[in-house]
Amino acid sequence: MRILIIEDEVKVVDFLRMGLDEAGYEVEAAFDGQMGYRLATSRPFDLIILDVVLPIMNGFDVCRKIREKDVAIPILMLTALGTTDDKLDGFDAGADDYLVKPFEFMELLARIKALSKRSSAGYMAGNSMKVADLELDLNKKSAQRGNTTIELTAKEYSLLEFLMRNKGRVVSRSEIAEKVWEITFDTGTNIVDVYINLLRKKIDRDFEQKLIQTRIGLGYTIDSE
Ligand code: CA
Repeated sequence: MRILIIEDEVKVVDFLRMGLDEAGYEVEAAFDGQMGYRLATSRPFDLIILDVVLPIMNGFDVCRKIREKDVAIPILMLTALGTTDDKLDGFDAGADDYLVKPFEFMELLARIKALSKRSSAGYMAGNSMKVADLELDLNKKSAQRGNTTIELTAKEYSLLEFLMRNKGRVVSRSEIAEKVWEITFDTGTNIVDVYINLLRKKIDRDFEQKLIQTRIGLGYTIDSE
């Protein structure tokens, strides 16, 4: 398994390289955003570890640009910034997971394993999930309803995937916030409702059969009934 590290701190790169090497991964490193983007799109990697504060191009932009070319490669963002807003920026840019510095190497390793398992599980599971005429392609990370292709942002996709994996089960707002955004659902954030509405506009509004249901006081569910 080949991992690309995009990080400008030589000490961090050395530390990661040593540990990952020992764990049996092949590692390449880029020390600025532009170089990282170039490597990421010119050679095959199985996973990218991406810092946020980088010379030339920041991690959010690198992530966005990589996603324009390759929607499937797992991207783990690494940063000293740790507020909810930064997390949301990372996820909006298309990152799959987020780790705040300083971190334990074992924690990083666990995230890498989880991410690679998630992406290979997608490949093995016949690659798609269905609810009524809505189909989610886990490899391309895209959705289709009937003959209509639906463009989703990275976060909308993650939310839809989570709902579809729990098809027929009511999931609460706090569970969605925790699983999809990895944030604690604190008072004052209505991010889940905002994204449910965005998703509804795309997958339900123009169709007779509505798939996303609201259960007042409980949460949301996706179902064909
Ligand atoms: Ca940095």
